[in-house]
Amino acid sequence: MTKREQAERYKRYATPYYLYNEALLQQTLDTLTCEMGKDPRYVMHYAIKANANPIVLRHIKAAGLGIDCVSGGEIEVACNMGFDPRKMVFAGVGKADWEIKLGLEKGIGCFNVESVPELDVINQIATETGKKADICLRINPNVGAHTHANIVTGLSDNKFGIDMAHMFDVIEAANAMTGINLIGLHFHIGSQITEMDDFIALCDRINELQDMLDARGMSMKIINVGGGLGIDYEAPETNQVPDFKAFFEVYRKNLKLREGQELHFELGRAIVAQCGTLISQVLYVKDNTNKKFVILDAGMTELIRPALYDAHHKIVNLSSDGPTDTYDVVGPICESSDTFAINTQLPHTQRGDVIAIMSAGAYGETMASGYNCRSLPKSYSLNDIMAD
Ligand SMILES: *Cc1c(COP(=O)(O)O)cnc(C)c1O
Repeated sequence: MTKREQAERYKRYATPYYLYNEALLQQTLDTLTCEMGKDPRYVMHYAIKANANPIVLRHIKAAGLGIDCVSGGEIEVACNMGFDPRKMVFAGVGKADWEIKLGLEKGIGCFNVESVPELDVINQIATETGKKADICLRINPNVGAHTHANIVTGLSDNKFGIDMAHMFDVIEAANAMTGINLIGLHFHIGSQITEMDDFIALCDRINELQDMLDARGMSMKIINVGGGLGIDYEAPETNQVPDFKAFFEVYRKNLKLREGQELHFELGRAIVAQCGTLISQVLYVKDNTNKKFVILDAGMTELIRPALYDAHHKIVNLSSDGPTDTYDVVGPICESSDTFAINTQLPHTQRGDVIAIMSAGAYGETMASGYNCRSLPKSYSLNDIMAD
C-alpha cells in the first residue's frame, strides 16, 4: 500500500484519533521479555499511566507483566482488565484514604510509600481492617537525570520519595508498625532517560545504601529501580524498539543484588511510545508574513507533551511527497503553546492532508483533556483499519 493509499484509508475514520500498531507493540514486548528473562530475579510492572488503552493492555497482560499504578483509578482499570492484584504496585506522593483502602481490599502486591505521614495512615487503615500492608519505601536518591526538568524525579528538591538521610529512622518506624510489612526499597529518578550513566549513578547510590543496610544487619527482599528508559523521538522508524539489552546490562553490571533479592522495574514509555501514532488532518494552511502555519484538527487536548515539556514528536505528511517548505505545525486550541513543531520541513502541505504525529503511544491518550469542551480522542488498532 502506498503512503497516499494509507492516508486515504486513515481518512475514513473521523480525525483526530490514536492509532495503535499491535504488531510493533508485540515485537517490543517479545524483545523486552526475552532480555529480562535472562535473569530470573527480574520482575516488570508496566507503568500504566503511560497508556491504559485496552488495545495496549491486552498485549501487556498476555506478556505476563504486572502493573505499576499511581492512583486508585489505575488500580480499578488494571483489575477490570483482569490483571492479578498481587502483581500490582502502587506509588504516588498523595494517596487518598479510599485509594489505600482499595489497594488493601484488592490485595495489591506492594505500596510504594513516599512519606512518614503516609506510612502512618496505611498502618492505621490496615490495622483497622485486620490486614498487613506489604510496602517498599520510596527513597529519593538525590540522583539527577539528563532529561527535561519537569520529568526529573530523583533530586532532593523534587516532591517524590523519602529523604535518604531519614531512611534508617523510617525503616525502624515501619518495622515497629503492626499493619506494615516492609519488603523493599523503591527508586525512580525520572523519565525519557537516554544516558545510561544516569542509571549507573542510581546503581552506585543503591550499592552505597545496601552497604549501609548490611552494616546494620538489615536486608530487603526487593530492590525496585522504577522506569525511565527513553525512546528515540527523532528517528522512530529506524529505532522502533528500545535497546532493552543495554538497559538491563547496566543493572546486571552495576547493581550488586544480595542473596535472594528480586530486582523490580517499572518501565512505561519504553514499552508503548512507538506503537502509538496520533492521526490528524490539516484544517488550514495560513501564510503569514513571517511564517506558514499548518493548522491541524489535533491539538494539546489530544497530545499535551509538546506544550507541557517542550517535547518533540516527528511529524509526517502522509498525503504529500512534493518539494518541502518550512512550517509551524499547530493545533486549534486557544493557547500559544498549542504548537507541535516550529520551523519544521514538510512536503508542500494543504487542507485535507493526513498528518501522522509519531511516537505518541506514551503519555498521549492518557493525558488527553476536554479543554475547550472538546471530546476525548477515539482510538483504533491498525489491524482494524487495514482489515476494513
Ligand atoms: C511514571 C513512573 C514510571 C514510568 O516511567 P517511564 O519513564 O514511563 O518508564 C515508573 N515508576 C514510577 C513510580 C512512575 O511514577
